Amino acid sequence: MNDNTAAIKEINGLLGDKERKAYVRSFGCQLNVSDGEKIKGLLQKMGYIFTEDEHEADLIILNTCAVRESAEDRVFGIVGSMKKLKELKPSLIIGIAGCMTAQSHIAEKIRKSYPQVDIVLGTSAINALPKLLLEALHGARFSADISEYDDFSEAAEQVRDSRFKASVPIMFGCNNFCTYCIVPYVRGRERSRHAEDIIEEVRRLVQNGYKEIMLLGQNVNSYGKDLENGMSFPQLLRELDSIEGDFIIRFMSSHPKDASKELIDTIFECEKVAKHLHLPVQSGSSDVLFRMNRHYDIEKYLGIVDYIYSRDPEFSLTTDLIVGFPDESDEEFKATLDLIKKVRYDNIYSFIYSKRSGTKAAEMHDGISDEEKGQRMRELLSVQREVSSEHYKRFIGKTMRVLADDVSKKKQGYLTGKSNEFIIVEFEGDSSLIGQFVDVEITDAMNWAVAGKIKKG
Ligand code: SF4
Repeated sequence: MNDNTAAIKEINGLLGDKERKAYVRSFGCQLNVSDGEKIKGLLQKMGYIFTEDEHEADLIILNTCAVRESAEDRVFGIVGSMKKLKELKPSLIIGIAGCMTAQSHIAEKIRKSYPQVDIVLGTSAINALPKLLLEALHGARFSADISEYDDFSEAAEQVRDSRFKASVPIMFGCNNFCTYCIVPYVRGRERSRHAEDIIEEVRRLVQNGYKEIMLLGQNVNSYGKDLENGMSFPQLLRELDSIEGDFIIRFMSSHPKDASKELIDTIFECEKVAKHLHLPVQSGSSDVLFRMNRHYDIEKYLGIVDYIYSRDPEFSLTTDLIVGFPDESDEEFKATLDLIKKVRYDNIYSFIYSKRSGTKAAEMHDGISDEEKGQRMRELLSVQREVSSEHYKRFIGKTMRVLADDVSKKKQGYLTGKSNEFIIVEFEGDSSLIGQFVDVEITDAMNWAVAGKIKKG
């Protein structure tokens, strides 16, 4: 591991008691947000406190996402606008981290065209931050580390954004090379963390009062396969389930090609594992799935769904869908609508396909117009709304265990939270309940949530 103790000590000596504020902004997926929490953990050791206002910051770190080119363009826009901030405060240090910087041509573009940027930090080089920051504080014009060594210390503290919900990455990278996705190119191949480290981290989080543990990986189902005598993901879930305390375990993402009966049995048999599965299908057409290089067809996918429903016909499933993949025909799109009606998802996360250079799909012929893609998306959402407003009615009259999460943005005096089944629940309640489990009797169902009353006694 890259030992950064000396660099941290030197920064603390150099800056002394001087107040120093850092603005850290993470874009994209939960794994990236988790990396942002690690970055904050390191900065805290160097005496930084955090601000939500970039104007008062002495250090700005943009932790970027590369999944969509539009997201990259947005970051370049933000970096461009920071030139002004640097002119007003020449001592300001600006750093760019995250998936964008893992592409060497992007790091080079930043070096050449954005002189206001001092530091570039790859996704696997977070631990190099103190060293790069020290160089910048000593006046270096540009310090970068986009190497691929994973050297983040297991013992390092994170500054977590929530006091009751914690994300715990269990593995990094991806081996799957779906043709539309840049992740394997920017996050490298799969690397699993050792089970003992994960179990210890979860135990500490539960002891510190965390109520929801979200295990993260691009494909958690292949957890442990790269380790010698590694535990499988279902075995890891069983170990975590045996930790004492009142908490819930969630996980994402679960690639359908590796979703086994053992995994599903484990979900049903483990008390603390949420009774919900996010199973990203991406398309209802086997031909499109082949073009996406997803390594399963709809028959196999429906086989998993059938097995789940044979154990509980009301089990909660959610999915990801891409609309308008290159040359998606009307029939192929219709197959996706049919799948939504057949599976009856509680929720879908849908995206209009957008070309991502550097991926295989970007080289495919794409004859579908933007208007057509937009029309298909509207149709898809309308079908899903119908499905969920009908399907959510199954919860009326039941009691759901809910982790109160926030005050309702729609109704004063109300709270929202997520049920064990990952359904949004709205109920009357005081903000002092935020971060606690409550039992809610469900009286009403909308197409985006259910509503009810806290059960008395
Ligand atoms: S499984 Fe596919 S979509 Fe998910 S990160 Fe890996 S390549 Fe990307």
